[in-house]
Amino acid sequence: MGQADVLVIGGGIVGLAIATELRHQGATVTVLSRDFNAAAGHAAAGMLAPSAEGLTGPLLTLSQRSLAHYPDWSHKLEELTGQETGYWPCGILTPLLSQPPASPELLGPVAIHNYQPHLSTKVTGGYWYPAEGQADSRALLKALRMAAQELGVEIQEGVTAQAFLQHNHHVNGILTSHGQQQAGHYVLAAGAWSSGLLPVPVKPRKGQLAALLTPTDSPYRLNRVLYGEHIYIVPRQDGRIILGATNEDVGFAPHNTAAGVAQLLNEATRLYPPLADFPLQDCWWGYRPVTPDEAPILGPGQCDNLTLATGHHRNGILLTPITAKLIVDSIQGTHDSLLDAFHWERFITTSDSQVASIHPPAPKSSPSPIYSHPSPMQTLSSPPIPAADTDSLMIAGRTFSSRLMTGSGKFDNFDTMRASLAASGSQIVTVAVRRVQTNAPGHEGLAQAIDWTKIWMLPNTAGCTNAEEAIRVARLGREMAKLLGQEDNNFVKLEVIPDAKYLLPDPIGTLRAAEQLVKEGFAVLPYVNADPILAKYLEEAGCATVMPLGSPIGSGQGVRNAANIRIIVENANIPVVVDAGIGSPSEAAESMELGADALLINTAIAKAQDPVKMGRAMGLATEAGRLAYVAGRIPVKAYASASSPLTGTITG
Ligand SMILES: Cc1cc2nc3c(=O)[nH]c(=O)nc-3n(C[C@H](O)[C@H](O)[C@H](O)COP(=O)(O)OP(=O)(O)OC[C@H]3O[C@@H](n4cnc5c(N)ncnc54)[C@H](O)[C@@H]3O)c2cc1C
Repeated sequence: MGQADVLVIGGGIVGLAIATELRHQGATVTVLSRDFNAAAGHAAAGMLAPSAEGLTGPLLTLSQRSLAHYPDWSHKLEELTGQETGYWPCGILTPLLSQPPASPELLGPVAIHNYQPHLSTKVTGGYWYPAEGQADSRALLKALRMAAQELGVEIQEGVTAQAFLQHNHHVNGILTSHGQQQAGHYVLAAGAWSSGLLPVPVKPRKGQLAALLTPTDSPYRLNRVLYGEHIYIVPRQDGRIILGATNEDVGFAPHNTAAGVAQLLNEATRLYPPLADFPLQDCWWGYRPVTPDEAPILGPGQCDNLTLATGHHRNGILLTPITAKLIVDSIQGTHDSLLDAFHWERFITTSDSQVASIHPPAPKSSPSPIYSHPSPMQTLSSPPIPAADTDSLMIAGRTFSSRLMTGSGKFDNFDTMRASLAASGSQIVTVAVRRVQTNAPGHEGLAQAIDWTKIWMLPNTAGCTNAEEAIRVARLGREMAKLLGQEDNNFVKLEVIPDAKYLLPDPIGTLRAAEQLVKEGFAVLPYVNADPILAKYLEEAGCATVMPLGSPIGSGQGVRNAANIRIIVENANIPVVVDAGIGSPSEAAESMELGADALLINTAIAKAQDPVKMGRAMGLATEAGRLAYVAGRIPVKAYASASSPLTGTITG
């Protein structure tokens, strides 16, 4: 098949519904689906519960509009495929064990027990939502996939999208596990995995579920959803009863756990005691795609031909029909204002202490120098120091007048970080792609907190324990830099660190990842042990620098391996950057005196009592050390040599 009009990444319920709708409107569509069985829709309970879920604001409006589409939408799918979707407006009852606040809609104790016999005697009241209900999410997913295929959507199962290829805020293609693919428009619908491809704040939220089977002729058969305070009980029309769900912030940790299943069974039998005798049929788990405000990200993305449809968290089954409609309308140029509330830019921090603009800075066109502001060192009142511009640092064809790189982690707040970066004169700042992606503590809004029109971003692969992860995160880092306006930034600080205690890098994994990343056009700055042979291999592989560690990261032990660093410097034809371990300005100067071309210092600045003053001290020390190296120090001698000439002195 030729190039599709639209390429959808993710073949879960959201991706398939969008693809089906697009195809229905006449577009040619390809869906990349890494693993259909991993889709959250296979795990979901399938409740359609805007009110029972207590949704409010635009999310409630979106959900109600979606619920209104359900009868027609599911009917059409069933007609097209002959496959049931399990749509069942059976109503949702919310029995309460705690004392409910008085309200006109509240069912009192007598009413609720009449309404649903055999509930726990501890139930004191509750609410009834007759318009809400459920779909059998597995059946629905199956029907959607059949419908997509029936209509001619090309589903590429087992194909993983690995990276967006973008330039000037336009996606030119997708790098996949099966080669490159192009389309006119791209839709990101990769659920809980979305942040692996683009810098969107979507994380997995694990949920475990279990299923019971209603015994034949049981007098306790349920015909409506029971949505309790700690459990929901969803009876399917075929007699299965879905119990859900745990809510666990454990990343992509697999498996059902004893504690998880015990919680489901205990809470279910507490609310509806007859379930204690129902046979247990199955248990499973899945990952809800959750954003920081628990609402989806919908609508135009960071590029002109990219649309985002992800982060549906615990209501993705409910929200699918409206998502498909609004997204397809938006791609076709009809914008519904309801989408504004779900735009990705709502997560870009705008507080005073952070960069206010929610729009990425304009792409940079002139390559170098990237930072022309006077550095704090030039404001010294002492005699002018020979400026670094006569002795600039060049990495991968880009020149920098400062030889000090800094990190962005561990600062108490963004204001201190910015002030100490400025005081240090540093022009290159490294950013942990993974931590920014996952909004790890201290990293929320970090990418936006720095003025990237003045500072060159060095995305790093911190947190990666093997080569494959590091390659993936490097690609993501390149996208992050582009989205923040550095279109031509192909730098990556490569860290492959399997050792959590000493944070020592894996030499073999680093070399493997470096070889691949160089092939993909990256300027690779690998973080390595001070091993001269490895440094040579990395240079031969095409790395832009080598970054030997002085001592373990954040240890402040200084340069423990000066002899090896000297050999690396002697052999290298690429810049040598001493990274990690430097604790004081004297150690910074010492490293530069060894002949290092640059330093990378984070903890010693960020964790100093006064990070701003320490930033400046490190900047001065780096420059002093460099000048000393260039000036050439005197040889060390065994005996004294007087400073003044001895000839012509008066003796006697
Ligand atoms: C325990 C649990 C209970 C839930 N209960 C309900 C409920 O009662 N009601 C409700 O409305 N919602 C519920 N949900 C939420 C709902 O299931 C999700 O919001 C919805 O399924 C998300 O759909 P999606 O298509 O965005 O993501 P997914 O269904 O997760 O699909 C994403 C797909 O993209 C693929 N993919 C990922 N990365 C790549 C890549 N790089 N290249 C190619 N393919 C890729 C994955 O393999 C996956 O198949 C529940 C979810 C869970 C986990």
